[in-house]
Amino acid sequence: MNKVAITRTKDDIYKSVGDAIDLIGGIEKYVKRGDIVLIKPNAFISKEEKGFISDSQVVLSLAKLCKEQGAKEVYIGERTPTVFKWYKKEEINFAKVICFDDPPHNLKTLPEAEVIKSAVPIPPIVEECDVFINVPGLRFHALTIISNGMKNIMGIMPKETTLLIHVSGLEDAIVDLNRFRKSDLVITTAINTLVGNFPVGGYGIESNTLIVGDNVVAVDSIAARVLKVDPYKIRHLTLAKKFSLGPIDLSEIELLGVPIESLEWREKIVEPTLEYEEFRDKINIIDPSKSCPSCKRAMASGIAGIFEEDPNADLKDITVVIGPVEDLNKYKLTKKLILFGNCTFPYKDQGLYVQGCPPRANMAKQAIKKIMEGK
Ligand code: SF4
Repeated sequence: MNKVAITRTKDDIYKSVGDAIDLIGGIEKYVKRGDIVLIKPNAFISKEEKGFISDSQVVLSLAKLCKEQGAKEVYIGERTPTVFKWYKKEEINFAKVICFDDPPHNLKTLPEAEVIKSAVPIPPIVEECDVFINVPGLRFHALTIISNGMKNIMGIMPKETTLLIHVSGLEDAIVDLNRFRKSDLVITTAINTLVGNFPVGGYGIESNTLIVGDNVVAVDSIAARVLKVDPYKIRHLTLAKKFSLGPIDLSEIELLGVPIESLEWREKIVEPTLEYEEFRDKINIIDPSKSCPSCKRAMASGIAGIFEEDPNADLKDITVVIGPVEDLNKYKLTKKLILFGNCTFPYKDQGLYVQGCPPRANMAKQAIKKIMEGK
């Protein structure tokens, strides 16, 4: 049975991290003398506000624990040089901080990949490490509903190669990457939890919680429940379950620590805007066929972001097309046209085409802004 522990943190974060891991067997179960350990936080955002990155005190405490356990080398690695902002090389003597954007990279064809068919650059340490510790922050996400351990693994790919993931089909690609690199330990740093319309907006709420386990699907399914989301609605989780990466059902997870219902901060959770139905009278939306929920969510988040900035924004002369459309010209179109997502490629010359499968939510907002400004 997969164990997942939920704990509340105290002022002493180092002790809180150790205590949480003790509930699932202790750090000695995962790290042996002489091991090379790679810790992958979510640390690519440079915003100072709380909740936008994995809690750095948790990451540093974990690195210290691994080193004290006898690890030969501990690395803290993330794509984008922002990792050096949050983890200053000169101040840390028990871990090496690395940026995955920097060479070397191995060009790898992922053996079991369903959608990432071309070879992708992967930092060698990702495969060479004995222990891979996945340390996400807890958050909602416009495209995938939640973002936790499974999505955090996207950050093993350098620079703009994450765009390839979006073009390949985001949720399926997340599963491809998790099949390629298994997480040996997952520690969700919900010290502050990012709620609302992330990544277009969103903000952190204080939550002082850790979610710890050694199966990324099990941890993510509990993380979803903590966020009051049904994990069966999250495609990358159900897909991961299908490929036997881990369990979602509570009957297959031994839940330790404090009960989910006892986390009083959950009352402050603000859900993201996942649907655009409420905006249909404000912007012309054409989605006649079966467009994917993630594409719709990206657009919903983008539109919501526009109205968060300006509640009186006038989008009435904008038409957004989402998903496969057989004959676009039989629909009533406005002058300003946004073709959103790879499915709309056949009409790309008729308006502002936004590539992606799905495109990112920020791209939805940017496209609306651009077309509003007549660019
Ligand atoms: S571009 Fe098409 S296939 Fe891709 S997410 Fe959007 S609707 Fe689905």
